[in-house]
Amino acid sequence: MAGVTRTGTGTNQEAVRRHNLGTVLRHVHRTRSTSRASLTTQMALNRSTIGGLAATLEELGVVRRSTPVSSRAGAGRPSAGLEVVSRRAYVLAIDVGVDRVVVGRVGLGCDVEVKARVNLPPEPAPEHVADTIVGLVAAVRADASPESTLVGVGISVPGVVREADGMVVFAPNLGWHEVPFAAIVREKLDLDVDHVIANDADLGARAEHVRGAGVDVDHLIYVSGDVGVGAGVITAGRPLGGAGGFAGELGHMSYDPQGLRCHCGSRGCWETQVGAVAIARAIGAPTDVVATLDTVLDDFDGPLESLHEIARHVGHGLANVVNLLNPQVVVLGGYLASLHRLVEPEILAAVRAGVMSGPGSQLRVTRPALGGDAVLVGAAEAAFESLLADPVGMLGVPAGAVAR
Ligand SMILES: [Zn+2]
Repeated sequence: MAGVTRTGTGTNQEAVRRHNLGTVLRHVHRTRSTSRASLTTQMALNRSTIGGLAATLEELGVVRRSTPVSSRAGAGRPSAGLEVVSRRAYVLAIDVGVDRVVVGRVGLGCDVEVKARVNLPPEPAPEHVADTIVGLVAAVRADASPESTLVGVGISVPGVVREADGMVVFAPNLGWHEVPFAAIVREKLDLDVDHVIANDADLGARAEHVRGAGVDVDHLIYVSGDVGVGAGVITAGRPLGGAGGFAGELGHMSYDPQGLRCHCGSRGCWETQVGAVAIARAIGAPTDVVATLDTVLDDFDGPLESLHEIARHVGHGLANVVNLLNPQVVVLGGYLASLHRLVEPEILAAVRAGVMSGPGSQLRVTRPALGGDAVLVGAAEAAFESLLADPVGMLGVPAGAVAR
């Protein structure tokens, strides 16, 4: 019986140790560079335990020692530094947009090593998009280091996604209903790693929260503009999913019940006033520019007054959301970032006019710190989860022996 107890305890200790290895690696992955002293404080473990965990991660090749960091000027011993080895492991991040697919090879620490992009025809068939992804994946993997291990695939889609089974329930701007897109991509790619799929705004929110405009912020909303409008919500540091994981369909908030018909089937959704079609109409551009509206706005040299009514609608809609969810930061992504660059004062004035003094007091409205890569980086973060949950399980062999 004693032997059984010891085995049980040993197994439990091993499970705790593997969990702690993941936690240390997650921290180094997020910060890219840290000190053992900082890890000791954050994880509430003693120095020798952290030293042992760091040594194992060094053996796995995912971290290396860096220049020691002094905790206080001139006081105490400098603490050993630890930095991520980006090239040891990578993920494939796939950003499916309405008009294009971008695939990135992203190294540990979310280092976007290489990207490739192909434009899509209107309302592309899922199989066509998956075939396009296969070509882009081959291109970005071509010069991957042989010591670098593929550990996951992350896919972003502009639509309502059920993450549990990888189903795209509804992506109106792609014309997709009930498409098992993660399974389609997995079959075509034939790579033996986890494939995760999520809504583009949810992934943008995740990326900006982890390493963008919302670092150290627990309440954040990322609003994506990619033909349609969606939102990813982080509240109390966690993504807000709702009962079915579909929360954040901000573009279809009922904004003007007497308004224009929306392609979702309803009438007067917010998207009919602030979506790409409405903006193209406001600046007198043909509506076939909607898929590239961000670049159209970036080059816009017409009268800014033509965008003021749109800016008011953006601000009023955001005020509703701010009153409801009390975020610290609202990040405007996609073409909304381009719009924000042009008419920020008008957007802010409309937000202030509609927001109550409590929820509005700590509010910051900004653009993605990760720029146009926010969604791609979010897809990469999701794809790294398997590795960060159990580094030994994924890479449990000496560095250099794994190459695929
Ligand atoms: Zn709608």
